Amino acid sequence: MAASILLRYQELALKGKNRPWFQRHLIRHLHRALAGLGVREIRVPMGRLEVVLGSDASMAEVRERLKHVFGLANYSVTTRVAPDMEALVSGILRDLPREAPSSFRVRVRRADKQFPLRTPDIEREMGRRIVEARGWPVNLSDPALTIGVEIVPGEAYYYFGKEPGAGGLPTGTGGRVVALLSGGIDSPVAAWRMMRRGCKATLVHFHSAPFLSRASQDKARELARVLARYQLSAKLHLVPIGEIQRQITLSVPGALRVILYRRLMLRIAERIALRSSAHALVTGDVLGQVASQTIENMAVTGAAIGMPIFRPLIGMDKDEIIAEAERLGTYSISIVPDEDCCTLFTPRHPVTRARHGEIEDAERGLPMEEFVDTALRSSSLERFTWPAVGVVGAV
Ligand code: ATP
Ligand code: MG
Repeated sequence: MAASILLRYQELALKGKNRPWFQRHLIRHLHRALAGLGVREIRVPMGRLEVVLGSDASMAEVRERLKHVFGLANYSVTTRVAPDMEALVSGILRDLPREAPSSFRVRVRRADKQFPLRTPDIEREMGRRIVEARGWPVNLSDPALTIGVEIVPGEAYYYFGKEPGAGGLPTGTGGRVVALLSGGIDSPVAAWRMMRRGCKATLVHFHSAPFLSRASQDKARELARVLARYQLSAKLHLVPIGEIQRQITLSVPGALRVILYRRLMLRIAERIALRSSAHALVTGDVLGQVASQTIENMAVTGAAIGMPIFRPLIGMDKDEIIAEAERLGTYSISIVPDEDCCTLFTPRHPVTRARHGEIEDAERGLPMEEFVDTALRSSSLERFTWPAVGVVGAV
């Protein structure tokens, strides 16, 4: 018999007219995410998805891949049988875990209202048969093992427990964004949060090689590799800005430089976004975390471009962000020491309340548009795919 996985999506978000569209994205994504693991078909039983696997599929690998699929609330490794009491009970009795749980209950979802027995009667009858066969204690309020049964028109499923999914919305349903990815802790979490809401993120990293080391680029690559797992592929633009930073230092007072670097980054990222049909940028800014992240400074940097900038971490505390980065697997990469480009040619204490006027004055004598063109011309593009990882070279 083929093994199946019963997938549950976030019901509320997928209600209504958009449901088939969300489902199509999710199904296409699942086919790609589970490639090579012997998926026979993906079926759509009422309100669920069912991945039918060949008998040789590695469940450990399937689980690992499913962990990264957005749009899944949770899932169960399941067996499909005819929608019939005897088929269900004999299957369950045969497949019950060998080891006795301290308690159990049966929970039934009866989506086929034609099924002859009512939900509580099915649960009671199945529970009775299991107690008879195994003598396990029943606990309805807090069972150690929940035996699940779902009955839909034409078929039924049983399973032993549920595993959590990645949540969020299917990749691609949220449109495209360009995420500014430093080597730090915050920006990968910010990118991931937008990805979880269904966005496909193109990543951009700015660096100051050869003025500073290449360490931040290697971190950005490692981070891109982790993030790519969630959207199956990720483009990473590596943009050198060291020479432009040097030219900025010639006329701009030290305290204002970080703001100018940021405005430059946003302009470059906006151009990349326009070229890749993205409609917003994403940064890892957190209010008040560092000098450059005051409301005044964010307003002044954001004013450099017309595109919306999303800052999904804006109201989070550092320890919350770190916990999320640890769960995601980016924390250990982010804490490797590097040389951040924003520190190049800047004093320890940048301005905390930049004013539009002084920043515009500082930029007036500088060929900002030319800087953007030069940076884009000298940038390179790498592409990360999951499960396989590849590089396509320079643009
Ligand atoms: P992070 O932990 O993400 O580096 P941070 O707390 O160090 O953030 P800043 O250095 O002020 O804060 O950066 C704010 C945001 O600006 C980052 O989250 C990122 O989105 C963007 N950013 C900063 N430096 C770079 C860079 N070198 N390349 C790409 N984006 C950057
Ligand atoms: Mg940083």
